[in-house]
Amino acid sequence: MKRIGVLYHVDTLMHVTDFTRPWMESFESPQRITLTLDFLRKSDLSKSGEIDFLEGKRAEVKDVLRVHHPYIFHIIDELSKIGRGIAGELSYVSRGTFRAAFAAAGTAIKAGELVVKGVYDQCFALIRPPGHHAGVAHAEGLCFFNNVAVMIKYLQEEVGIGRIMVVDWDAHVSDGTSQIFYDDDTVLVLSFHEYDFDQGERGGIQEIGYGKGEGYNVNVPLPLGTAEDCYFDVFVEFFEPLARNFRPDLIAISAGFDAHFADPVGNMNLRSKTYFKLSEEVLKVAGRVCNSKIVFVLEGGYNLLALPLSVSAVLYGLNWNRSKIL
Ligand SMILES: [Zn+2]
Repeated sequence: MKRIGVLYHVDTLMHVTDFTRPWMESFESPQRITLTLDFLRKSDLSKSGEIDFLEGKRAEVKDVLRVHHPYIFHIIDELSKIGRGIAGELSYVSRGTFRAAFAAAGTAIKAGELVVKGVYDQCFALIRPPGHHAGVAHAEGLCFFNNVAVMIKYLQEEVGIGRIMVVDWDAHVSDGTSQIFYDDDTVLVLSFHEYDFDQGERGGIQEIGYGKGEGYNVNVPLPLGTAEDCYFDVFVEFFEPLARNFRPDLIAISAGFDAHFADPVGNMNLRSKTYFKLSEEVLKVAGRVCNSKIVFVLEGGYNLLALPLSVSAVLYGLNWNRSKIL
């Protein structure tokens, strides 16, 4: 049995919004996927056969509608047909956006299913557009469909998995994912993110879930500029006890890499090496609580040099041979 699967789908390259203006939208480019894939293919992990590259799949309409309201689904579809438009704040549409969003969600589903069914120990869905800001009925922040949420609902309803822990280490709050599972006690959402303590904003510690879901949404807001050691200590402090108490069947990482110091969008100070440590930590705890079942779903991460290094650091972190770390 192979240990690690890396999944991608060519349709995810069809979402191209660099025509809008030279700002945030242009950072979320197809090169994020192609350069990372190229880098991984040339890595020792690939050469030694420790990771497999697998083709993802397109989601079905019913998969997306398990999470999203037809309203936003229809808006993204129609704007894609026109070839341009704004589906939500900072969510620009191109002709290929609808197809790309389906491929992203479907590839996340396939990655989760391969792990849950034991075909792979861990999988990494190398997908775009990202998803964690997308809520039930809105697109936002470069996100259209919430890929992690679509995967989770599929696994719960089609594969029969019970409890899933989402750990979001993107630099930004997992507000879409939190909204979708806010009253759900079967999905624990833990988000580490930069936070404006002067103004206050979404993503504060007071967002703890509601009703049945109270206590199942945990925000860990951090000051801008937080560096590696502090971040890692805080990560361990929250992640370990929550995972031990919740005892998930699967850990899903919303793996954004825009907390890297060189990222043009995020404002944190992690390094590629930090993602190695985070991955190693998640694997250690997952070994105790969920038979090492982890699925990684790409969120942000916009520096085209740092992203391939950081993704490969995650995969090295899952590998027992530490001598190979970059
Ligand atoms: Zn982000």
